[in-house]
Amino acid sequence: MSTASLSASVGRQGVNRPDDVRLVQNLLLARGFGTFGDVDGECDEATVQAIVAFQRGYLRKPDGRIDPGGITWRNLAGTYGVRAAAPEADTSPITRTVPRPAASTINAGLSAVDNAFMLDRLGAPRASYGTLCEPPTNERLRRNLVLDTVGPFRVTGLVPAVLSLKAVMADIAREQPRVYRALGTAGMLCCRLVRGSTTAISNHSWGTAIDLTLDGVLDAYGDDRVQVGLTLIAPIFHRHGWYWGAAFRKEDAMHFEGSRALVEQWATQLR
Ligand SMILES: [Zn+2]
Repeated sequence: MSTASLSASVGRQGVNRPDDVRLVQNLLLARGFGTFGDVDGECDEATVQAIVAFQRGYLRKPDGRIDPGGITWRNLAGTYGVRAAAPEADTSPITRTVPRPAASTINAGLSAVDNAFMLDRLGAPRASYGTLCEPPTNERLRRNLVLDTVGPFRVTGLVPAVLSLKAVMADIAREQPRVYRALGTAGMLCCRLVRGSTTAISNHSWGTAIDLTLDGVLDAYGDDRVQVGLTLIAPIFHRHGWYWGAAFRKEDAMHFEGSRALVEQWATQLR
């Protein structure tokens, strides 16, 4: 899909070639906007409405139409590796929220880690945890932490996780420059319990998870809505093996963490 392109316009008053419509329907489906039913190559009203719903994330006046090379095409396809820079003239509020994408459309092929796995591979960060951030006491873990600049901010985290984040941020800078400029962090390393739990250790405790802000705004926790800017960068994190918290039972869209396969690999790189 990364080399696919649109041959003509799709949507309201578009040319609507069936191959183009099918491509658009597949991309909408992958982004959680598959409200039109089957991918059938037919641009019916439901497909136009799905395009409108997608456009609401960044256009004040959605027109239900996708032109080759236009902003909607770039936002829709850019996440799939098609060379696409966000237009400088686009003043859309990337902090506005849209319903969280369907769980089946995010984190495809990745598994989330659990505490047993993390404790086994990376050890226990501390002897006990509370609801506030505390430093790790595990000597080996401490040896493998680093404070470093990753793109637009500085974080403290597990060395291989921070290196991976640098690669993620380089891609975001290239493919989603507008989001990149808005990015900040609400923290990476932080030994504590999962919010609302008295037993589960947060993956921030190992420095393998990061919370992001856009224009200084945190995505609201557990409201099943996600900031548009996060939907634009989630596919980039995904291809680097990072698991997106938007899929957690309690939606946590500002949170990205190393997937099981990634942590497995990082664990072999510790000193
Ligand atoms: Zn988090």
